[in-house]
Amino acid sequence: MDILPLELENIAGQKVSDKCGVVALLEDSGVEYRLIQSLRILQHRGQESAGICIYNGKNLKVYKGMGLVREVFSQIKIDQTGDRGIGHIRYSTAGSSVIDNAQPIFSRVGKYEIAMGHNGEIVNAEEIRNELESKGYSFNTTSDTEVILRLLAINLARGEDIIDAMKLTFSKIRGAYSLVIMINERVFGVRDPNAIRPLAIGKTKKGFGIASENVVFEQLGGKIIRDFYPGEIIELTENGYKSYRFGNESPAHCMFEYVYFARPDSTIDGRNVFEVRKKIGEILARECPADADIVIPVPDSGRSHALGYSIGSGIPFVEGLIKNRYVDRTFIMPTQNKREDELDIKLNPIKEVVQDKRVVLVDDSIVRGNTMRKIVKLLRDAGAKEVHVRVGSPPIKYPCYLGIDMKTKEQFVAKEGKSLDELAKEFGANSVAYVSIDGLVEAIGFEKNNLCLGCLIGKYPIPITNLNANNFT
Ligand code: 5GP
Ligand code: MG
Repeated sequence: MDILPLELENIAGQKVSDKCGVVALLEDSGVEYRLIQSLRILQHRGQESAGICIYNGKNLKVYKGMGLVREVFSQIKIDQTGDRGIGHIRYSTAGSSVIDNAQPIFSRVGKYEIAMGHNGEIVNAEEIRNELESKGYSFNTTSDTEVILRLLAINLARGEDIIDAMKLTFSKIRGAYSLVIMINERVFGVRDPNAIRPLAIGKTKKGFGIASENVVFEQLGGKIIRDFYPGEIIELTENGYKSYRFGNESPAHCMFEYVYFARPDSTIDGRNVFEVRKKIGEILARECPADADIVIPVPDSGRSHALGYSIGSGIPFVEGLIKNRYVDRTFIMPTQNKREDELDIKLNPIKEVVQDKRVVLVDDSIVRGNTMRKIVKLLRDAGAKEVHVRVGSPPIKYPCYLGIDMKTKEQFVAKEGKSLDELAKEFGANSVAYVSIDGLVEAIGFEKNNLCLGCLIGKYPIPITNLNANNFT
């Protein structure tokens, strides 16, 4: 086979595939400002880098940089305008914080310019890369997004129709992907056949859009039309949109979007995230009661679960921990010392609230246990009489290969075989209890087999090859 000419910007870096946020807009006037606003609305989905791609009537142009959306676009001058474009924000993982990983990524092949933003993770990227390399293609990165882009470019260069080229590409890749793609002036969104990560289409005040979460449409003066179906390509057009299906497996929506990742005011696949979290809390109160005086949430992500626990148990909800909103996210700091130092100044208890009280402390999830260890100590030092830890997700014990930054088993505090008493001791708490898997499933409201529970049970909706599993450090 001939080696097709392909220009790909240099995106040298390491494995880059994480929780991220994506957006696409096609409106009746310049979209660059609203693309940036959309990324700000989705900022919780990624704080490492931000980028947009605009079609200026002739070419695609990418603008991207490191940092929060506001920081990136206060430094970059956008010297083009266009009525359509895509945007991406990337979540950081320790050690991979470099501009080369920022998206959208861009490629030129024949008459096509292609830009792509990806949320998720491809489990057979390694295999496809090896296969293409053996045919003479070379890759700039180990990024799975480059693999998708490259496959698509190859299929387009063969002269395939654009939709056929996409279908052919997606028939080869396995994993979690919610994508926004521009091919010259055409704008697409794609959701994988298991619909693992969220993606929705909606109306904005001035046109149509695609976004990871529906809050984007609401805050841009419009509303959601619907979530993408599993295995669907949607093309935005001047009058609306066109839909193409390429797969129809049974959905396996990521439970962690509901537990932690998405905004509470988002509604994903018909379930409002706040309502799900509140329900988790109510079920947690039913399954794991505690004899206590007050319920305190771990801000911000444990609030809705704690409210549910309070409603379910009748124990008053009190904001007893104040969070410094200017402290960086501790979860992603590169070393354990750094994480603990930051945690030191992140949260402070209100002594007057907790003194002599039996406290139920509610958080959405426990991963390494750093946060919990710290907070229990803070509450005890502030005079709490008892601390009962209640957790809004079942124990996280297995890595995620489909887009959440939890890669190695060793990091999890809740390891196989560790008892709740041992965990309580480790956290310095009087008791520890987690919502059950069935309780979580009930709260989300889908059939169990329509959810991805991989990080809880170690079984994934898509076979994970060894090759891929070895890729994580
Ligand atoms: P831990 O301190 O146990 O490692 O992490 C648990 C805390 O971090 C919880 O408060 C939870 O809300 C938050 N958390 C859980 N998963 C993630 C994640 O993937 N990223 C970030 N930034 N925080 C997370
Ligand atoms: Mg949290």
